[in-house]
Amino acid sequence: MIRLLRYLIGVGLLVAGAVWLADRPGAVSLDWLGWHVETSMPLLLLICALAAFLLLWLVRLLGLLIGVPGIFGRMRAERRHRQGYESLTRGLVAVAAGDPKEALRQARKADSLLDSPPLSLLLAAQAAQLAGDEEAATQHFDAMLKRKETEFLALRGLITQALKRGDRTSALIQARKAYALKPDAEWVILALFDLLIEERAWEEALELVTKSAKRHLMQDDLAKRRSAILTLELANQSVDSQHALKLAETAFDLLPELPASAVLAARLLGAKGKQSKAARLLERAWTANPHPSLVDCLKSLSEGEDAVRFVLAVERLVAGAPKNIESHIAVAKAALDARLWGKARSALEPVLAAERPQARVLALMAAIDEGEGRLSDSVAWIRRLSTAQSNPVWLCLSCGAMADDWSSICPACHGFDRLAWRSPEHLLHLEDASSSSRALPDEVGA
Ligand SMILES: [Zn+2]
Repeated sequence: MIRLLRYLIGVGLLVAGAVWLADRPGAVSLDWLGWHVETSMPLLLLICALAAFLLLWLVRLLGLLIGVPGIFGRMRAERRHRQGYESLTRGLVAVAAGDPKEALRQARKADSLLDSPPLSLLLAAQAAQLAGDEEAATQHFDAMLKRKETEFLALRGLITQALKRGDRTSALIQARKAYALKPDAEWVILALFDLLIEERAWEEALELVTKSAKRHLMQDDLAKRRSAILTLELANQSVDSQHALKLAETAFDLLPELPASAVLAARLLGAKGKQSKAARLLERAWTANPHPSLVDCLKSLSEGEDAVRFVLAVERLVAGAPKNIESHIAVAKAALDARLWGKARSALEPVLAAERPQARVLALMAAIDEGEGRLSDSVAWIRRLSTAQSNPVWLCLSCGAMADDWSSICPACHGFDRLAWRSPEHLLHLEDASSSSRALPDEVGA
């Protein structure tokens, strides 16, 4: 509306001006360079306006002509740019399709057309990797390292390369750098954690877990479990027994179901003459997760003690989980050592009712009958051993290796926190469930 008003006012003024001029034509006389011109004022003004308009166009045309080479240059650059990105796209497609030759050709083309931008470096590195030329790939990754925008990506490439050739030391160095750059990247946390564990860098691994948990990059339960195991490793490593005890107790508080930390803490307490405190700690551990290593530890604490008194100590130990099979077995074993045949027999009764009793239960029954002089009964138990369920062992849920003692790292596959107290038959169930998938961490250690 305002526009229209302005337009109308403009036209009005123009018409008014023209009428005003037409009413006052006047006369203009010009003598110049032998030319004599006689005209009216409005015509002169019209000629002047036309001349100004023409001049403006001439100036524009001149500017356009001067700028022509620049325009051509820009067009050429744009064309190179477009071709470069087309090559990049073709190269990336070739990488995805597993065609190293084409990928390499397009990488070179993109490199010459795009003056080595980060993307063409990445494509060149990927193409070299695809072609199996690790040396060239390293060179490209090194070049990427020098650019801020590709530094992190280059570190990932270098870590993958180092792991591929088994150079864990280089991989760890690069993983530490990558973590310093982006501490929130999940793959960096995973890779760095694995490498630190292999290096037995417990303290640094613990720090990584703590920081990752604080930033909600690791599940709380997993972080707690890992923290407990790493603290236990630090306790094992410590030469100061007081400090070791403190660490072992912290590990126990974090994860009471891990018997190893209770055993270490109890052993250290025993060495200080605090036998009863050690026994209380073992009782708490038994309630959390009954495991034979706790009875063994209690036995070593009660060395020289009367066998009957030890039965009472074992009964106290297992009181927190009386129905667990380990509790029945622990009491039976202690009673057997004390030659309390009846007590041993009655302790085993509930576990004998199982469809397939464990081999160790049958062996204990054979020993009780032998102790009581019933040799034929004893032999009958031994005959049943072939159909018995296997005894539990520390079993690696990743590779299936068996171990007598718990350790944070599987002696066979070096996986962290993979040992669980299981019957080897558990492996068959695992294979049935999924022949390839790894057991979940929460299955471990119970
Ligand atoms: Zn293993």
